Amino acid sequence: MQSFNPTEAGFYGEFGGAFVPEMLFPNVDELQREYRSIIHSDSFQEEFRALLKDYVGRPTPLFYSANLSSEFNAQIYLKREDLNHTGAHKINNTVGQILLAKRLNKKHIIAETGAGQHGVATATACALMGIGCTIFMGEVDIERQMPNVERMKLLGAKVVPATSGSRTLKDATNEAIREWINNPVDTHYIIGSVVGPHPYPDMVSKFQSVISEEIKAQLKEKTGSSEPDYILACLGGGSNAIGAFYHFIDNGKTKLIAVEAGGEGVHSGRTAATIALGRKGIIHGSKTYLIQTDDGQITEPHSISAGLDYPGIGPVHAYLHDTGRAQVVSVTDAEALDAAFQLSRKDGIIPALESAHALAYLPKMKLRKDDVVVVNLSGRGDKDMMTYKKHFEL
Ligand SMILES: *Cc1c(COP(=O)(O)O)cnc(C)c1O
Repeated sequence: MQSFNPTEAGFYGEFGGAFVPEMLFPNVDELQREYRSIIHSDSFQEEFRALLKDYVGRPTPLFYSANLSSEFNAQIYLKREDLNHTGAHKINNTVGQILLAKRLNKKHIIAETGAGQHGVATATACALMGIGCTIFMGEVDIERQMPNVERMKLLGAKVVPATSGSRTLKDATNEAIREWINNPVDTHYIIGSVVGPHPYPDMVSKFQSVISEEIKAQLKEKTGSSEPDYILACLGGGSNAIGAFYHFIDNGKTKLIAVEAGGEGVHSGRTAATIALGRKGIIHGSKTYLIQTDDGQITEPHSISAGLDYPGIGPVHAYLHDTGRAQVVSVTDAEALDAAFQLSRKDGIIPALESAHALAYLPKMKLRKDDVVVVNLSGRGDKDMMTYKKHFEL
């Protein structure tokens, strides 16, 4: 067990909590009261572990990349979350939450999605469990991410377009919240990252912590030590990053590096680098850093990778940053694209554009030959082929 946990009310230092409208209070309150005893029970853990193994395909490999190791003069390992069922780490969380929903006797699932990855992972878990689901998605995103919309429909989900505002992720989130308020008794809302009101950040962190649990055991077997010198992960809302950091937070040795999406440059006005630019505020029910104007309006973020295109950051990362336990850096769209190209050519692995952000920080590090570096490869790049085709003139 980790000593690192939020308070009873879901605070990491001053960040987190549950700032929700009164109409949502019963839903959030039920989760807060129930989640700990459910997810730590033996029967839950048994079912969760069995699905992670036989359905998701865990443990995912920890691959020693001889090519990257010689290029960057260090010992570089890739944690292959791209090999999970549905192609990314998001399924770890949706499988956990669907088991929780079942135990709370919920009959319907709702979720919001931007690029569609979380929507697909949710629709997948719902198909498996025979529970109906409704996925809210901005109208603009539905057009941009048609293959994922079609996957969700094939899996049996109802996809509802959000037609207000900028018709993207935050509008879809508003629609999902409205739906939840109207159906408090029988509906569970599956949030896809370590964001939202308590208990979501803690709950999602715990479901994703299987990533660092495996890294520890795999490194021990491969190197004799379970503690790497560095762990790198990309940072959108922060679920793959906290999953990769979780079991190393309490050790004094491992340097935790989270890589944000710099977009066209941190000061270009087209960026999603929340920590670099953000100020404290409240977004989607928790206190954290977010990109906002002087009078507190949330700024539309930009990143070439849809999964990192979010104006906030999970409260746990705000806390790890402020306490100095994690270092938050950023790379640009162009640097991420270059890293994706290099990994495809050198190791035969086409990474998701999100994951390519973590890889793109390697050339900026001062590494020594015996440094052990783990890069969390959060997902695979199939969904990004249109972007790659355009930029690499394939
Ligand atoms: C959604 C997604 C992310 C970003 O979400 P986090 O919660 O920050 O992990 C990163 N990588 C991939 C492949 C994704 O699908």
